[in-house]
Amino acid sequence: MKYSYEQLAQFDKQYVWHPFTQMQSYVEEDPLIIEKGKGSYLFDVEGKRYLDGYASLWVNVHGHSDPELNEALHEQIEKISHSTLLGSANVPSILLAKKLVEMWGGHISKVFYSDTGAAAVEIALKMAYQYWKNIDPVRYRGKNKFISLKEAYHGDTIGAVSVGGMDLFHRIFEPLLFERIEVPAPYVYRMSEYGDEEEIVRYCLAELEQTLEERHEEVAGVIVEPLVQGAAGIITHPAGFLKGVEKLCRQYDVLLICDEVAVGFGRTGTMFACEQEGVQPDLVCLGKGITGGYLPLAATLTTEQIYSAFLGEAQENKTFFHGHTYTGNQLSCSVALKNIELIEKRNLIPEVQRKARLLEGMLQKLYELPIVGDVRQKGLMVGIEIVQDQKTKEIFDRSKQFEHQIILEARRRGLIIRPLGPVLTFIPVLAMPEEQLEEAVDIIFDSIAEMVHTKQL
Ligand SMILES: *Cc1c(COP(=O)(O)O)cnc(C)c1O
Repeated sequence: MKYSYEQLAQFDKQYVWHPFTQMQSYVEEDPLIIEKGKGSYLFDVEGKRYLDGYASLWVNVHGHSDPELNEALHEQIEKISHSTLLGSANVPSILLAKKLVEMWGGHISKVFYSDTGAAAVEIALKMAYQYWKNIDPVRYRGKNKFISLKEAYHGDTIGAVSVGGMDLFHRIFEPLLFERIEVPAPYVYRMSEYGDEEEIVRYCLAELEQTLEERHEEVAGVIVEPLVQGAAGIITHPAGFLKGVEKLCRQYDVLLICDEVAVGFGRTGTMFACEQEGVQPDLVCLGKGITGGYLPLAATLTTEQIYSAFLGEAQENKTFFHGHTYTGNQLSCSVALKNIELIEKRNLIPEVQRKARLLEGMLQKLYELPIVGDVRQKGLMVGIEIVQDQKTKEIFDRSKQFEHQIILEARRRGLIIRPLGPVLTFIPVLAMPEEQLEEAVDIIFDSIAEMVHTKQL
């Protein structure tokens, strides 16, 4: 039975509660109902075509409905879709773990699977906490807290929210959360009073150092989004910050957790963001791009040092008591393996670097628009901060919802992007060809210009 757009839209409004969405205003608009995808394009139920400028929430790598990824899934589904990793193993999860460890090279040696980025973060936090208890419960009894950055985002489950720093998402849950220690993040555009990039990095690292000096005995680990704080509005960190964080973690004997959920799998121009500063975290969280945007899968990677602290006789109680029903799902793992194989075979990483340079040039013209305050980019991750005034950097009254109007205009013009507060984000399908990147940037320009024109901004 084929339903019309109107029927589906009505059912959607009647039955579905959408994530991160104020449903009161959602139900007043015509929903976008996607039915198909091909390459960098999404198609709605009426056949209208859109460029996927948010990589379907930062996950899509090779494009939609990639023949080789489809085939890998078909092959796997003919064998088996799922069996459990609790007490047994399966072929794709073994091969994927081996591949991930080889990709990280050297110090990383174990992979623990889950199915969402938030779970990968929970697992990293629990591992870090239990690690200290397992190696010496007396000496490290105080190591119960985590340090995270201002405006940090690590997912929406309670542990992940506990280390989050975004008031808008997190404040309401405060009574439910464990304690977190916040340190400043190098948000260059909004920290000019601290000086240039280098001085801002120095200031942030000095604050972290002071916190660690005073409180390292209470700290199990520091968790960071390496290079780019995505959900906070694509806050790109200047060079040297991540390396500085790593150095301080080593100096004060706390674990370093790198949340690569958003930035992993080529998004910033290297397979993993940590590579760019030669950083070797104790725990790594992977998600989003891991399956190329096909199926939910996440992983927490760690070192032999941490893993071995959990070894012992059953009665020693060193076991990591954590697991999810669909852990190591065969379909997810097989498509993830193929995704990684194709990233290598298709030379995607050098292509991302090449296109990132072209994109940088294309984006410059956005500064001609009087409400564009800052354009931030790392690889194929772009944030465009909308302001009332380029000089004062003041943002518009939130109730005006100008950013939402801009993305609706872009949608009318055939591009899907999303705002994060006052920041428009452009996170294209990673394999988007340069002509389509150019078309997308033109649409963003025209949509903002349209807003400036109609509202006389
Ligand atoms: C998206 C994201 C998460 C959460 O992943 P989910 O799959 O949505 O649970 C965690 N950390 C970062 C940095 C993210 O961008």
